[in-house]
Amino acid sequence: MVLQLYDTLTRTKQPFKPLESRKASIYSCGPTVYRDVHIGNLRTYLLADWLRRVLEAQDYQVQHVKNITDVGHMRQELLERGEDKVIAAAIAAGKTPAEIAEHYTESFLRDEKALNIKPAHEFPRATEHIGHMIEMIESLIAKELAYEVSGNVYYRVERFLGYGKLSGNTGEGLLEGVRAEADPLKENGRDFSLWKAAEKGRVAKWSSPWGDGFPGWHIECSAMSTHLLGERFDFHTGGVDNIFPHHEDEIAQSEGALGHQVVGHWVHGQHLLVDGLKMAKSTGNVYTLPQLRDRGFEPMAFRYLCATVHYRKRLNFTFASLRAASAGLSKLRQEAFQAAGANGEDTGAGDGSAWEEAFWDALKDDLHLPRALAAVWRLVRSDASPRVKTRLLRAFDEVLGLDLLPQPSEVPDAVRALIDERQELRRREDFVPADALRKRVEDAGYEVRDVREGLAIVPRATSAPSDMGVLHSSDDVPSFLEQPDEFDFSVILTGRDDLEGLRRAASAVLAQSDRHRLELIVVDNGSSDGTGDWLFELTQQDDRVRAITCDHNIGTGAARNCGLRAAKGTIIVLLDTSVEPTDEFLTPIAAALEDGTTGIVGPFGVNSEDMREFEDAPGPEVDAVEGYLMALRRSLVREVGLMDEKFRFYRHLDLDYSLAIRERGYRNRIVPDLPLRRHAHTDWERTPEDERDRLSKRNFYRFLKKYGHSTDLLLAKST
Ligand code: AMP
Ligand code: ZN
Repeated sequence: MVLQLYDTLTRTKQPFKPLESRKASIYSCGPTVYRDVHIGNLRTYLLADWLRRVLEAQDYQVQHVKNITDVGHMRQELLERGEDKVIAAAIAAGKTPAEIAEHYTESFLRDEKALNIKPAHEFPRATEHIGHMIEMIESLIAKELAYEVSGNVYYRVERFLGYGKLSGNTGEGLLEGVRAEADPLKENGRDFSLWKAAEKGRVAKWSSPWGDGFPGWHIECSAMSTHLLGERFDFHTGGVDNIFPHHEDEIAQSEGALGHQVVGHWVHGQHLLVDGLKMAKSTGNVYTLPQLRDRGFEPMAFRYLCATVHYRKRLNFTFASLRAASAGLSKLRQEAFQAAGANGEDTGAGDGSAWEEAFWDALKDDLHLPRALAAVWRLVRSDASPRVKTRLLRAFDEVLGLDLLPQPSEVPDAVRALIDERQELRRREDFVPADALRKRVEDAGYEVRDVREGLAIVPRATSAPSDMGVLHSSDDVPSFLEQPDEFDFSVILTGRDDLEGLRRAASAVLAQSDRHRLELIVVDNGSSDGTGDWLFELTQQDDRVRAITCDHNIGTGAARNCGLRAAKGTIIVLLDTSVEPTDEFLTPIAAALEDGTTGIVGPFGVNSEDMREFEDAPGPEVDAVEGYLMALRRSLVREVGLMDEKFRFYRHLDLDYSLAIRERGYRNRIVPDLPLRRHAHTDWERTPEDERDRLSKRNFYRFLKKYGHSTDLLLAKST
């Protein structure tokens, strides 16, 4: 199958037919360097990058040109949006227009680099091609497609019959006078500027056959694209806002001047929205890449996020989705790393051609990156051999550009020295200082893993503020405990390798969100059954959901604490997958917690006579509420503290926490008749019998040691 791409001009998917065999040329509308590029612009540049990488991986020799608009005042709308204030301020501070442009060009190039966007082969600056623009304007005048009035040149739109073919907009609807002001010099309101006479006092101006002036914006791309890529080239990319008038006018100019079709494929990326809204200074929702970084996100998380949404769909950017993307990326890197680190035996199934096919089918079908990414996930979770996985991941990453596999050569010498030193300490079994060095290596952004071939150094996934990567300790979750409530309820759902149960419970909880202000925090305690993918998608689709992925080894107590630290609700409801709310369950819980002397509430409780044996109890007051569903006020967590993380298995953890709360003088109570359905307790069922005996016993003795002598805390003794 050949690459099929949607073409804006024909409004159909078209097979790619290169103009020249094994070659492909791309022209991308680039930035206006009088302001910072924002993440929406970067989404569009990522699209061009993926297009290029796909072509290169298909052995096309690609020539990529991306222009830099460094004549700020070419962009009338910059003035209309008031963005020239920035420019005016810079000029007032003594900067020249060229210095301002240089400053923003540099930060644009930095952003592209941080996102692993391959630099275009050429970045033509508009100011360096004024001569070519003038030539093209002259030839348009010669063909009577343009006319001059008092030092201004306009395109005569009615003379170009194809006007409107790209956008469907012929410009007739644009009533003169509706826009800022009518230009009395134009023959027709639809005509657009090719050259503008310089007003008095203008700094950025050039001499021309029509006097001093400056070019209109659209002519820039016509002149530079055909000058650098030839009279015909394969692809032209941009965002959908470029379709009209920019690209419509570009077609009129280029085809008008050359007399034939110039662009083979018009590729336009849909917009990125922020929190569902168009990005705008006035809304205060314009984000730049450095701002994402300031919030602790690795730029590559944004690249991953963009890969999860097809380029012709709007991408709704939220920090929750970025967080989820970041977690997805680190998990994928970890899987890739494990495959690369495993020994070389070819044990698994297949030569990988099925995965290769799935990956390429997706990309050839209009650059379907989300499907390609899904194929990558299926591959890493398949039983393909590590060697096949590694080979394919390396090849796939040439296209994805996600830095999935470690690049040892890129580790700085200073980090290498730390690692060598650490190795030496470990050899001497000086584990404490060795550990301190590991921390320093991590702070430098790297991670050391012991693999069969020795040591592997990988870039540390990310250090974003929360929900990030796979957590190895609850301390990795920033605590919101001291921060004000933002929701009425935080429902914390924990589970491991129980996708069905998590899905069931999550949708039951979310069904309640019409009635309550709630957040759902899903703590995936080290699943390997596809829970990660599902959770990632869920957080993508649903802003109310946050995902925390932690290593299974941190244990149940710590996993629950991850949720407790992250929660921002007045009331916290801890759930596991063995219960499924079937109807409104939060109101009765809130009612039961209204009394300030109440500690934990829940549907199931137990009492004991001796701290050794606990029996189901009907309530209303009980010694302990069972962990399947426990609810309490968040303020109480602040007072009593988090759960005891030494309880690594779930048993007795609930009793321990319940008694800690009784110790403070609160009463634990049953909420009768909560609408719930019970399901098997997977944590119990999936733990092998000898293992669960061992873990249960350990928890039992730990609990007994703490509370064995405090039987006066029990209801049976205190009455
Ligand atoms: P500009 O600097 O406004 O010319 O934009 C540079 C590129 O980013 C153009 O191709 C635009 O179409 C594209 N673009 C602008 N805003 C967005 C957005 N919100 N989402 C995606 N692309 C955008
Ligand atoms: Zn352009």
